[in-house]
Parts: sequence; structure tokens; C-alpha cells
Amino acid sequence: MSDRTCSLRQFCLIAACGMVCMLAQIASGVAEAPMQKSQAPGFYRMMLGDFEITALSDGVIDLDAGLLKNVSEAEVQRLLRLAMIDDPHKVATTTNAYLVNTRAKLVLVDAGGGATFGRGLGDLRENLEAAGYEAEQVDAVLVTHLHFDHIGGLTGADGKAAFPKAVVYLSKPENDYWLSETEPDVPAVYKEAFKKARKLARDAAKPYVELSRWKTLDEGTQDLPISGITAIAIPGHTPGHTAYRIQSGKETLLIVGDMVHFAAVQFARPEAAVAFDVDPKQAAATREVVFRRVADGKTLLADMHVAFPGIGRLRSDGKSGYVFVPVEYTPLPATKPSR
Ligand SMILES: [Zn+2]
Repeated sequence: MSDRTCSLRQFCLIAACGMVCMLAQIASGVAEAPMQKSQAPGFYRMMLGDFEITALSDGVIDLDAGLLKNVSEAEVQRLLRLAMIDDPHKVATTTNAYLVNTRAKLVLVDAGGGATFGRGLGDLRENLEAAGYEAEQVDAVLVTHLHFDHIGGLTGADGKAAFPKAVVYLSKPENDYWLSETEPDVPAVYKEAFKKARKLARDAAKPYVELSRWKTLDEGTQDLPISGITAIAIPGHTPGHTAYRIQSGKETLLIVGDMVHFAAVQFARPEAAVAFDVDPKQAAATREVVFRRVADGKTLLADMHVAFPGIGRLRSDGKSGYVFVPVEYTPLPATKPSR
């Protein structure tokens, strides 16, 4: 009896082992699925009151932290280490754009770099389509400034308007600085870079100027002919650098263009400027004013070079700096299937 019992136990053990082996084989077969090796589409969606906001990624480039000014190298190194950035010469920097659907109008804020940055930028069109929109649906493009990582995407490879039905808005001082016949006074060291940027700005403007769809806004604060959107002058990075305030119900989003290039450093030290600020002193002063206003716990901030989607809130760090608190991914209530 005990022999029989023993052999039954042995049988059960062998059968169980066989089953485990078989399941392991099946499991290892499943694990051999090929990797996809592609990123998810670069868009992020949120509601702002009744408006729908879609952040669009145009791509990522590396910037050298040596471009930072008005802050010591030791402090830059300390802040980069806190952000766990290993290589100060290659700080990954995104370029974002923002699409605002007010229900009445479809508005794009900045158009990305198009083909002007090689393979690093130029993903905006693809991501716009992945987000469910067509370039032909865009009614207006609001330009924060005329650096080519923001307006290269206004034209296609054929030099034609990439947003054929859109009216482009920008501030008059920005328009005049880059596009007027009289060349502004630029330090000798930046002459060549300025020439290149000016040519690219002219190329981007050309088809819209020809279509009479290139409109300048007066200096200062001005409501656009699009309900809920106001242009606000934030000079320094460029002479006509402009923020766009988007307001729906009690909610506000301030899209600030290039207020920040190195998030790891410039939120904590708003006085830090970058080499390509046209007026670094003014850029720093403007940044301090804007940060102070935005750090009310309610206003959302969006910056074209803060890690995608680049939208978040600011709080004071208790000293003279700020902490950026990014928005989180959440499904939109209207699209969540009922269970
Ligand atoms: Zn930029």
C-alpha cells in the first residue's frame, strides 16, 4: 500500500514538472514578440475650460549648457547633477508647439523647425495628423518669435505655405527686427548667425505675405480677433518675443515661447540667460516678472523647450527660484469608455 502510495506521488510530481516545463516553453515563445522600436505619437491632449489643447512635439535636439550666461559654471553643474544630466554638452531639449481648438477656430502656436534643423526637428506635421487634424484645417498660426526652430515649419519643402488657409500673427517689433530692410545693430560675433536666421525668417514669411495672410500685432498686450486669446509682449529673448494667453472659463494657459531653454537651471535661477537671447538682461528681467505672475497655483505655463508636453504649473522654491510641476497623463473624461 505504502509502495503504491509512493509511486502515485512520484507520478504526480513528474506530471506536474512536465506541465510546468510546457507552460515555460509557451511563455518563452510569447516573449519572443519583436520589439516595435518606435515611440508613441508625439501629442498630448488636455481640456482648458471649453477649449481643447493639443501639445505637439516637433522633435529633440541637444544643447550645450555652455550657452548659459549670468550664472556660475559651478552652479550650472550643481543644478544639472540634481536633474541627473550627465553630459553638460548634450542636454536633450525638446521643441514643442501647441494647437488650440476653441470650437470656433483651430489655432497653432508656433510651427516648429520644419527642415531647418536636419533630422532633429520637423515632426510637427506628422504629429498634428496623428492627433487627428490636417494642416488645411488650421485657421491661424500665432508666432512667439522668428527664430527658425519656431517658424521653419511654416513652409513646406516646395516653399509654399504649409498651412494654406491660416493667417499668421506676430508682433510688429518682431516683424520689423527680422524682416525690415534696415539691418539692426548686431554684435560682430553674431553677424553670420543673424544673417542665416534672417534669411530663413524671410523664406518662412514669403508665401503668407504674398497671400496677405501675414498680420502684425501692436506692441504690448492685445486681444486677437479670436475669442479667448491675448498676445502679451515678453521682450528679451528677441525684441518682439510674444506670449499668448489662452483663457476659457476660469482656466488660463500662458504659452511663453522661449522663456526657458534649460529647465534644470532656469526655473531655479531665472536670472540665467542663454547666448542667443538678443538682450540677455531684459530676457532675465522678463522671466522673473512672468514666473512671479504664473506662480499663483492656478495658471498653466507652456514653454516650447521644456520637456514634452512642456505644460505645468510653477511654485516658488521658497528662495528666489521656482519649481516646475508638469501636468500628468490622464484620459479625457469624454473619451473614457463606460464600464
Ligand atoms: Zn527656440
